[in-house]
Amino acid sequence: MARTTVTAFPSAMRSADLVPRFEEQGYGDAQVAARRRWIEERAGVVLRHVGAAPLPTPAMRGKVENPIGVAQVPLGLAGPLLVHGEHARGLFYVPLATNEGALVRSYERGMVTLTRAGGAAVHLYLDENRVAPAFFLDSVEEAYRFVDELAADFAEIRAAAEATTRHGRLLRLEPRAVGREVMVNFCYSTGDAHGMNMIVRATDAACRWIIAHGRARGYSIFSGLDGEKQAGGGLLAGGKGKRVVAGARLPARLLQTYLHVSAGDLAELWRHTVTGKIQAGAIGYNGHYANGLAALFIACGQDVANLANSAVGMTQFEELAGGDLYASVTLPSLTVATVGGGTALGTAHECLELLGCAGAGGARKLAEVAAATLLAGELSMGAALASGEFVNAHETYGRNRPEADLKPAPAPETS
Ligand code: NAP
Repeated sequence: MARTTVTAFPSAMRSADLVPRFEEQGYGDAQVAARRRWIEERAGVVLRHVGAAPLPTPAMRGKVENPIGVAQVPLGLAGPLLVHGEHARGLFYVPLATNEGALVRSYERGMVTLTRAGGAAVHLYLDENRVAPAFFLDSVEEAYRFVDELAADFAEIRAAAEATTRHGRLLRLEPRAVGREVMVNFCYSTGDAHGMNMIVRATDAACRWIIAHGRARGYSIFSGLDGEKQAGGGLLAGGKGKRVVAGARLPARLLQTYLHVSAGDLAELWRHTVTGKIQAGAIGYNGHYANGLAALFIACGQDVANLANSAVGMTQFEELAGGDLYASVTLPSLTVATVGGGTALGTAHECLELLGCAGAGGARKLAEVAAATLLAGELSMGAALASGEFVNAHETYGRNRPEADLKPAPAPETS
């Protein structure tokens, strides 16, 4: 097959350079295959794996445009993880999709230790999502009056927003005047959906009502205040997703046997790394929430870009009298869903089913499982660092030298 350069576009782009759409945007099997052949020919590659994944192409509508197939990420299983939540109760085996060798083994080690210690207690404090448009006023006096009127008009504003959704509920408005602009957090309950499509539509309807009935000259739907898909200090107060806390007391004996550390070792590590994270300007403090969350998000069809807000949080390790450890994780802005987005697709749906979280009624349970999973991950990674086993664990489980990856696996030796 002739290789065509696709990196540099000609200065005058031809319509033949556009990715084929086909009629109805091209979600049929034959159209997806034709689009894949189109890029195979242009790029001089064969996309055998991209085309082989068993996902009905019409199901991709609403998830991706210009589909050519499915990407692959290895899927592992970690557990057992004993969770004592309000929604997640009992033993869980957690599917994790990742390319990082050592990750699943590490989370598994933390989960087994937690389970032997009696499990992780988990509590969900807040379950909301928000959109924050900015309204434009003529002066700071006008902005001040606008804020007053928002409170007075709340019932009408809520009615306009909720007319667009069956599950979204507008809970309150949080205005913040900056100069003559007013940014307003529209705070919603979104059921089991992540809810951004739902609440952006609802908020847009509410904004139109506000413009038609009030003194604002105009609005922009995203001011940037809401923290969607962006790490920021405001997330620590919660309100973007679910605020979840997980914690456990781990006896000294278990720490030694399974994690090869003492509570003092972990508390000491915590102190040292807090200093480093402050120097780095980190928001919150945690070892690697992004690792477990990314793997769980990919496995369970979550919007992976929400890692940016979801991975902001606080881990704490405290040494107790007698040598036990109290470990906790606090996730103030965890965005997870079991309805909508990619949650109903193929492997994502199966992974949610595996956790008993698929569909309506599953989102809070998934949030609690996620928090307990991260607690396990923090314990295991912290212990690997404190005991000096971190490098060896990655050497054993996580090395991928390119020359070995490209060669076929050797045949097993026979005696
Ligand atoms: P969605 O897949 O667009 O919609 C899910 C819909 O499911 C809800 O709107 C709701 O309809 C319905 N539903 C049925 N049962 C439900 C239940 N038990 N709980 C809640 N809803 C239920 O998903 P979304 O969650 O609103 O949006 C997620 C997607 O938005 C993600 O793919 C994300 O990447 C994307 N996103 C969009 C924006 C944006 O600005 N639009 C920004 C960031 C991300 P009703 O509304 O009628 O109740």
